[in-house]
Order: sequence, then C-alpha cells, then structure tokens
Amino acid sequence: MTIYSPRGHGAVTVPVERGGCGVTHTDTEGDRLKVDCPKCEAAIMRLPFGFGPSPESAALTPDEREAIEKGTRNKAELVSAMAAALAEKGSDIIASALDDSPKPRPRKRTPRPASTDAQ
Ligand SMILES: [Zn+2]
Repeated sequence: MTIYSPRGHGAVTVPVERGGCGVTHTDTEGDRLKVDCPKCEAAIMRLPFGFGPSPESAALTPDEREAIEKGTRNKAELVSAMAAALAEKGSDIIASALDDSPKPRPRKRTPRPASTDAQ
C-alpha cells in the first residue's frame, strides 16, 4: 500500500524505535508526499498527520479547508439572493403557486353498474 500526505509535507522519517525504517522518504505525487514503505506506513497511519491511502483521502490543509468553506458560503449566498429575487419579482408566480383556493375539479365519471340483464 502507498499512503499520501496532506499538501505541504516535504519529507518524512520514522525512526526505527518508533516502528519505521529510519530512512527519510521524499517521493512525491503531485504536491503530496508519497510513502511506499510498509514499516513507515503503519507507524504514520497511527499518528494524527492526516495521511491517507489515496491523494484524495489525505487531510485537507487549512488553506484547502478555507477555500471549500468559502465556496460553500458563496453558494449559500447565491441561493438566498436567488430566493430574494424570486420573492420580489416572482411574487405573482409564488402567490399563484401557493393559492390553495378551490379550483374547478374535473368531474369524476362514476362507472356504470354492471348490467344485470344477462341470463
Ligand atoms: Zn520507511
């Protein structure tokens, strides 16, 4: 298995006495440190460094988290702005949609009773 760091890690060394191999791992994939060493992987995954089994599963950096929160906030602002615009300009549409006054119903046809003339 290979594990990946959050962005910004340049190298990792897990000492032998901590269960690692003692070698400094510096392989990267994209902008993430990649560790392909069974001894170190096990030791690193026990620590709260945010490593994950794929680049996508590694923890987000504070910058990444902030960018996502900003994006979410912008979406929420957009939705409320749209709702406000709709409430203002589309009030007639909304009013008619919410109008629950009785409307003429299509007549229901009552089925004819089955003929009893049959012999
Ligand atoms: Zn190692």
